[in-house]
Amino acid sequence: MCLDIDDTLVDFTSSARRALFDLIGRDDMWPCWQRTTDEHVARVVAGELSYDAMHRARTKAFFADLGALLDDDLVATLEERRRTQLWTTWQLFSDAIPCLDWLRAAGFKLAAVTNASGDHQRAKLAGLGIARFFDTLVIAGELGAAKPDPVIFHTACARMGVSPAETVHVGDLLDTDAVGARDAGLHGVWLARTPARPAAEPGVQTIETLADLPELLVSEYRTPDLTATAGADFRCREGVV
Ligand SMILES: [Mg+2]
Repeated sequence: MCLDIDDTLVDFTSSARRALFDLIGRDDMWPCWQRTTDEHVARVVAGELSYDAMHRARTKAFFADLGALLDDDLVATLEERRRTQLWTTWQLFSDAIPCLDWLRAAGFKLAAVTNASGDHQRAKLAGLGIARFFDTLVIAGELGAAKPDPVIFHTACARMGVSPAETVHVGDLLDTDAVGARDAGLHGVWLARTPARPAAEPGVQTIETLADLPELLVSEYRTPDLTATAGADFRCREGVV
């Protein structure tokens, strides 16, 4: 079982949006920040930038869009201030711990598969108390390959000692997570927490909350012995699995 972290287990967007508001005193530039982030993350995925370099380049480009051409020292100061604020507000989604508890109780091997820098993501997982759930953390900044590159999915499977065909990956981004996993030979599950969304891809399952995951694993993937081994107190939307 592979799980994405940000906006799958951790409510990353709420924290990032709040940190940006605290930095610039306005909320209307969030779409610009997201667009700038997407452009810069694409450069990381392409191997052009490290995550650390990307963080500074993104902040510089964002402020340039606001009409402020900042020198590197001020960019570094602002980025540090934003990240410090970010670190004080991390929160798990309410369905994260029950799902992780259930998956462990059901006997799954678990890999976190995440596009982020290594130090940053390891500290976040430890700080939130969820590193203990995972057999392995497969982090793009450490591996040098990022989702949807099959290498990161195959690395997770190899570390767990399982084949891609018997592995499910769940994440909030349709293309990066679910379609990427499917194309790498895993079972891709799209966690679509927001109601307005495009149609899912063929061969990709969609859930709206992690509470729906146990039922999907049982009904769609015929996971054996789940009901016998799972924690009895985990309630999915339609009842206790
Ligand atoms: Mg995510």
